[in-house]
Amino acid sequence: MKIILLGAPGSGKGTQAVKIAEKYGLTHISTGDIFRENIKNQTELGKKVKAIMDEGRLCPDDVTCELVKDRLSKNDCKNGYLLDGFPRNLFQAGELDKFAAPDKVINLIVDLGKIERRITGRRSCPKCNGSFHIDFIGDVKTCPTCGGELVIRKDDNPETVKERLSVYEKQTAPLVDYYTAQGKVIDIDGDQSIDDVFSSIVKALK
Ligand code: ADP
Ligand code: ZN
Repeated sequence: MKIILLGAPGSGKGTQAVKIAEKYGLTHISTGDIFRENIKNQTELGKKVKAIMDEGRLCPDDVTCELVKDRLSKNDCKNGYLLDGFPRNLFQAGELDKFAAPDKVINLIVDLGKIERRITGRRSCPKCNGSFHIDFIGDVKTCPTCGGELVIRKDDNPETVKERLSVYEKQTAPLVDYYTAQGKVIDIDGDQSIDDVFSSIVKALK
């Protein structure tokens, strides 16, 4: 099973990805997490993409595609994958079709007007890659899942969020049409509780 999660920033991709990966035994690959990990470890790749990510723009296609290709060639992707954050534009989708085209594309739909509040209240755990909202966990400092220290992602400020949403509308949203033409899109209402979004996905995948 090869699955892509599509949706605006803050639509809940990361949260659902963890649950889907667990249920179906798929390897969860988040390009955003991989880039953040590289920035934290100050690798060459991390240095290359740091400023770009802080501004909410897309990392270069060649680096990103290379990274995903490499990751998908690993043993744990033999039975499929769950891609979260890739592809993010038509070029990347075309490249992916050349080496590991998806079977299904889950499109998480959330009203863009609600996104800013979702993102600015977000707290992330770099240790387990969990993400939470202060409306649910309160303004606490430690991760409810693993006890790690929660942080506010550097690109989760209102100004950068605006840029990320604009990038999404211009470059990523057209992928919905691209995959609809291939008959692969599953639309999911992302404006429900975490558990209800998840059951909708499970039902649709049956
Ligand atoms: P979100 O979906 O909430 O915006 P991500 O963690 O998926 O967050 O991505 C954060 C940032 O990482 C993006 O704004 C972009 O700079 C970079 N990034 C992630 N995936 C890609 C990709 N496929 N192509 C280019 N840049 C990417
Ligand atoms: Zn954690």
